[in-house]
Amino acid sequence: MSDCLFCKIVAKEIPAEIVHETGRTLAFRDVNPQAPTHVLVVPKQHHPDAAALARADDGLADDVLVAAHAVAVQEGVAEGGYRVVFNTGPGAGQTVFHVHAHVLGGRPLTWPPG
Ligand code: 5GP
Ligand code: ZN
Repeated sequence: MSDCLFCKIVAKEIPAEIVHETGRTLAFRDVNPQAPTHVLVVPKQHHPDAAALARADDGLADDVLVAAHAVAVQEGVAEGGYRVVFNTGPGAGQTVFHVHAHVLGGRPLTWPPG
């Protein structure tokens, strides 16, 4: 999608600090980090939200989850505990409508998140 911020990051038209890439996923640091590790994992294919990703019938959601865990391991937060969050819909705080998993770690994470 030509007007999608994260499609532009996937296309490398907008710079981002990329930390992990597979054939179908890209992970880059959040520009406004909420934890020492705050990485966004996106499918390269545009889907607006997690509900749409869940309907993708080719294992793409699996790829995003596997990439999120790989990022946690790479960032050194997998053993200490980390959080994977899909804000889904404006009521949940989603602001960018290209589905993305937030991978957060490196500090104590309280629950519920608020
Ligand atoms: P959401 O609120 O949709 O769940 O998360 C969107 C995230 O994208 C926010 O945490 C925000 O900081 C991040 N973000 C917004 N614009 C950019 C950008 O241009 N580059 C990067 N790396 N992150 C962005
Ligand atoms: Zn997009």
